[in-house]
Amino acid sequence: MAVQITVHAYPGQRFLDIINDAVNTGHGEGLEDEVQNIVITFDSLLNGKTGAFLPDEKTIIIDIGHCITNHYWLDRGATSIANAWFNMIYTLFHELKHARQLSERPELVQMAHLTDEYETDAREYGFLSLEEWSINDGVIPELDELGVAGETLKESLNQLYASATEEVDIELSAQGTNLAGYMAKTATTLVENGEMSVEEVHAAFIDMAVNSLGNQNMITSEQFVNLRCLANAS
Ligand SMILES: [Zn+2]
Repeated sequence: MAVQITVHAYPGQRFLDIINDAVNTGHGEGLEDEVQNIVITFDSLLNGKTGAFLPDEKTIIIDIGHCITNHYWLDRGATSIANAWFNMIYTLFHELKHARQLSERPELVQMAHLTDEYETDAREYGFLSLEEWSINDGVIPELDELGVAGETLKESLNQLYASATEEVDIELSAQGTNLAGYMAKTATTLVENGEMSVEEVHAAFIDMAVNSLGNQNMITSEQFVNLRCLANAS
């Protein structure tokens, strides 16, 4: 039986294509016993989580509203459009990994909370899947391709325009390109958070082509996600 995709909040065709590919031909294939429904929703999960896997309901929930408000990538220098998009892809594969864990070890269903080992496994899988997307595609969607996420981001960018005109202009001109984040901010944050040493960041940037857009040095999705994977690979 095919996995059903239930759209309560339209995330745009590109994301629906990624979900379809994942469950039909990709990493989510063969999980029919664990996942029968993927629900796309908006601001309905508790605790602001971006997603959840409910084994009893055989359902994965992806919360688009929380993919926007979760600042994980934004805090490290991603544009707000890239931040939401990265969260959406990461969340899909993170939850698919939990379903895979259950298919390999059915006894996990009795655990009230998964132990750290399974969370770490799902987190790394989310990052690596995002890295794979960035290598094979890497183009950040335009706001008009993001459905309700695009509409919500448009509103907040409009509100920000008066106080941060330059940043918003850069953000808008980066949509539809492979540019995802600010190089200087990304490097600084990784060092400040202790996620990478100055030497590691320097080494990672050495081979990177630097793209200039306006006055900002921007890095591509692939470079950005790659740095994040490196920082999390410990
Ligand atoms: Zn998890």
